[in-house]
Amino acid sequence: MRKAAPSPWVPLEEAVPIDLFRAEVEAWARRLGVTPREVHLRPMKRKWASCSSRGRLTFDTDLLRQPAEFRREVIIHELLHLKVPNHGKLFRALLRAYLASAETDPPTP
Ligand SMILES: [Zn+2]
Repeated sequence: MRKAAPSPWVPLEEAVPIDLFRAEVEAWARRLGVTPREVHLRPMKRKWASCSSRGRLTFDTDLLRQPAEFRREVIIHELLHLKVPNHGKLFRALLRAYLASAETDPPTP
């Protein structure tokens, strides 16, 4: 998922621990019924996350300092690529549905 603009600066103490982030990814992977082969975190310049065709997900460490709703959107977006490799109609419909489910019935890590 591409970055639209440089990430805003947020005080470091608001960052969530990496373990919590990984738990969020795992909880959403279960909800979506996908199994990422590897999940990595590293600083990325132009993207919030990427997904390789072999099921390897990489997330930008800046995500740890982003609001929970945005983090969730990036996580679901990237995990969804393990099901749908493009941004077509199906992808957008599923993304909307999972984001809506996050409001009413969030997965438990
Ligand atoms: Zn994408």
